[in-house]
Amino acid sequence: MQISHNKGVKISLNTQIFLGAFLGVVFGIILGHTGLLLPSTASWFLSGFGLLGKIFIDLLKVIMVPVVFTSIAAGIANLRNAPQSGRAWPALILYSLTTTCLAAATGLTAMNLIKPGVGLNTHLFQENMPPSGLHSLTVGDFIRKLIEGIFTHPLAAVGQNNILAVIMLALLTGIAIVLLGERSRTTVKALNKLFEIMMTIVRWIMVLAPAGIMGLLAVLIARQKVQLLFVLSKYILVVMGTTFFHGAVTLPVILWLTTRMSPHRFLMGMKEAFITAFATSSSTATLPVSLRCITDNLGIDRHVARFVLPVGAALNMDGTAMYEAMAALFVANLCGIHLSLPAQIIVVLTAMTASIGAPGLPSAGMVTMMMVLQSVGLPLSALGLLIAIDRPLDTGRTVVNVEGDCIGACVVQRVAGR
Ligand code: ASP
Repeated sequence: MQISHNKGVKISLNTQIFLGAFLGVVFGIILGHTGLLLPSTASWFLSGFGLLGKIFIDLLKVIMVPVVFTSIAAGIANLRNAPQSGRAWPALILYSLTTTCLAAATGLTAMNLIKPGVGLNTHLFQENMPPSGLHSLTVGDFIRKLIEGIFTHPLAAVGQNNILAVIMLALLTGIAIVLLGERSRTTVKALNKLFEIMMTIVRWIMVLAPAGIMGLLAVLIARQKVQLLFVLSKYILVVMGTTFFHGAVTLPVILWLTTRMSPHRFLMGMKEAFITAFATSSSTATLPVSLRCITDNLGIDRHVARFVLPVGAALNMDGTAMYEAMAALFVANLCGIHLSLPAQIIVVLTAMTASIGAPGLPSAGMVTMMMVLQSVGLPLSALGLLIAIDRPLDTGRTVVNVEGDCIGACVVQRVAGR
């Protein structure tokens, strides 16, 4: 999915989104002031802007279930051809689960400590909130709901936008395809095509993103005034700091503990790949550079690198898991909702799954972000705000995604004894 580039239009989609967000802020400030003098004119404009935002979010809702299903099922099904080398698979799975879980948990810890958005005392997005009590669950309710949610009739799950059940079905489908081996070749092809089709529709919807974001931001700013912008800057700084912490402390420590490789040597060897990840915001586009750097500069076995890096680019995304968990908590803070511990555990689990479901493409995490919000009953209209500020945040999390994959290759090489 190439959300960020639109070849047919001269101004790139990123620039258009930036302009949309800027205009939204300006209109919001103007309407906020007009509301005091000419309330009926302001409310007329605000309902127009609100409608623009609603159409954009509703279109994303339409595509959410098929995108998540095809992305996860195709991502796993494509592993059919990955070389299966003894201890490599279990090592990679254990490594990925550990680091992704650590990333999401670190993100939540930072949000709980710094609490950006708390106290804004707002009823932001309230009108779009689904009537879910998930955020105030007890542990018992949590386990019951989780099991009920996962094992639901697929059609009912689609109808209720029950994303956990959709993920479960996608995982089972992907695993069954892998186990069927050669016999599932045509299904894999069809699934990949279906995923491409869904991404094409997402690209069409994203053409409306600048107008949708302008509408959503105008309404938010008119209600919240510029105070919201200060809260957003604080949130951006917390996300950047936490992403940096995971990339500069947690992952290098894991590298050193498991392989004894010096983090400095690793950084020097991989710097070209990290710069590419930063510039492209795409793990997939960075893959050829990562493969070259890790084999030529760090001496990682070619078989190991060719096995771990493509799997990692599709499924192992620490930066994305961390970001999605943090963003969900931020939206909860903006809505004045305190997420209980079980609800936060749901956020971590869904963020981990969402990161598996996100393709390694620019801003792909924003599509799967919807399922994280949905899983704890947070308003999907918050997505407009998150997409508006995603560009700078996507660069950092993509670097961490790529770093996580490369350290994974070093760890697997060590465990597989090559
Ligand atoms: N841009 C990220 C990547 O390619 C995915 C995302 O989180 O949006 O790894």
